[in-house]
Amino acid sequence: MTTALPTQDADLLRQSGLRATPGRLSVLEVLAREPHVDAETIRQRIGLEAPSLQAVHNILADLHSAGLVRRFVPARSAARYERRIGDNHHHAVCSGCGTVFDVDSTTGDEPYAPGAIPEGFRVSTAEIVFWGVCADCA
Ligand SMILES: [Zn+2]
Ligand SMILES: [Zn+2]
Repeated sequence: MTTALPTQDADLLRQSGLRATPGRLSVLEVLAREPHVDAETIRQRIGLEAPSLQAVHNILADLHSAGLVRRFVPARSAARYERRIGDNHHHAVCSGCGTVFDVDSTTGDEPYAPGAIPEGFRVSTAEIVFWGVCADCA
């Protein structure tokens, strides 16, 4: 879990070639506190100074192409974003309350292959979504 300070986030943005704008810093701050949220939720969490929803989408697109956030799209749901990147973790989604849980890969940071991969195919990212009901909804 990332608990980066705003100054560290500003450095992170600059190192990725992005300007450290208040909007980008706010979005990163929300995602540090609350992973797996969609653009609308991020906008609500920012509160009064929140940029428009379209601006939040643009910020998320910039952060995603800079490799600073991971984008994850559960079926029938808006895209969710998180700062836990590059570790090939999976997700378990509760079909009752919609909560998304992280599932660590049993192969560490390496992509996990649950079955035979086509001959010659090189896996770069493995992303498995487990659907079910969480303990609270069961
Ligand atoms: Zn649930
Ligand atoms: Zn996750």
